[in-house]
Amino acid sequence: MQTEAAKTVDFSAWNAGPAAMLAWLKPQPPGDARRHYDTALRTIALLQTTLELNPLLRLFSREVGATVAHSSVHYRNNDCSIEASVGRSARYRRTFRVIVERRDLGRLTFSRGKPFTVRETALLEFLLSSLAYPLRNALRYENAFQASLTDPLTGVYNRGMLESALQREVSLARRHGAPLSLIILDIDGLKAVNDNFGHERGDHLIKAVARSVAGTLRRSDIFCRFGGDEFALVLSNTDQHGAAVLAETIRKRTAGITRIFDHQAVKVTVSVGVASLSGTEDDKTLFARADQALYRAKGAGRNCIKVAGAA
Ligand code: GH3
Ligand code: MG
Repeated sequence: MQTEAAKTVDFSAWNAGPAAMLAWLKPQPPGDARRHYDTALRTIALLQTTLELNPLLRLFSREVGATVAHSSVHYRNNDCSIEASVGRSARYRRTFRVIVERRDLGRLTFSRGKPFTVRETALLEFLLSSLAYPLRNALRYENAFQASLTDPLTGVYNRGMLESALQREVSLARRHGAPLSLIILDIDGLKAVNDNFGHERGDHLIKAVARSVAGTLRRSDIFCRFGGDEFALVLSNTDQHGAAVLAETIRKRTAGITRIFDHQAVKVTVSVGVASLSGTEDDKTLFARADQALYRAKGAGRNCIKVAGAA
C-alpha cells in the first residue's frame, strides 16, 4: 500500500465562485479549461441535491471519475468520528485535507491501481472545489441529526432514539429469530438528593450513572436516557440470561459510586428491570414487561434487579 502525506487545500476563497475557478483554470489549454469548468459546475449543481454524506460522495466520485479515473474515494473526519467510502480501495493513493472557512473538514483519499500523475493530482484538487461547500453542509446536517438523537445532559441517546431503535430491533429480531433483551434502570431516591443537595448535584449523579453504564456496553448495545432518572438498554442478540448478567454487573458497578456533598457521603444505587423478547410480542409489550420488572425491583427494596416472566 502506498502511503503519502495529505495535501492541504483551503477552499475558503472559493466561495467567490466562478472567478476563483477561472483563475485556477487560466494556465490550462483553452479546450481543457472549458471542459473542467463545465465538469465542476455540473458537479456543484448535482451535489446540491443531497445533504447526506454517502450519496454526496457517490455522486462526486461518479462525476470526477470521468475526468480522473479512480477506484475508490474514502472520507474521514476524526473530530466528528465520521467516515464514508465509495468503491474498493487500491494501492496508489492521493489524500487531500479539505479546509473551508478555517475549518478542517477532514481528509479525502482517492485510490487506484496505478499512480496518479502530477496533472491528475492538480485536477482532483480543482474538482474538489465543487465538493468543499456541499461537504461542509452535509457535516452540519449530520451533526444536527446526531444532536436530535442525543440527550444533552449525558451525551447518550434520547427517548426518540429509544422508540425508533426498539421498534427496529424488535422487528429485526423477530424476522431472524434472534434473541433480544431490554434493560430499564432507574436511579434510587434521586428526588431526595435534589431536595437535600440541589438539582445540580442530582444532575451530576445522573451523568455519573450514565458514564458507569456506558463503560459496560458492547458496540451494538443501544443506550438511552428516556426520562429524568430512567435509562434503557436495547441489547440485540442477547438472551435473558446474558441480559440478567449484564444488569447485575451494571447494578454492582453503580452501587460503587459515592460522592461527598456538603460533607456527607451520598451513595448511588439503581433498580433494574430486565425483559427478553418472546413469542410474537411487539416493542410496546416488551417495554411494558421490563417496566413492570423495574417496578418489582423498586418494591423489593431497590438496588436490585428483577427479570420479567414470559409474555
Ligand atoms: P425512586 O427510588 O422510587 O426511583 O425515587 P426517586 O426519588 O428517584 O423518584 P422517581 O424515580 O420516581 O422520580 C425521578 C426524580 O428524579 C424526580 C425528580 O426529582 C428527579 N429528576 C428528574 N429529572 C431530573 C433531572 O434532569 N435532573 C435532576 N437533578 N433530577 C431529575
Ligand atoms: Mg428514581
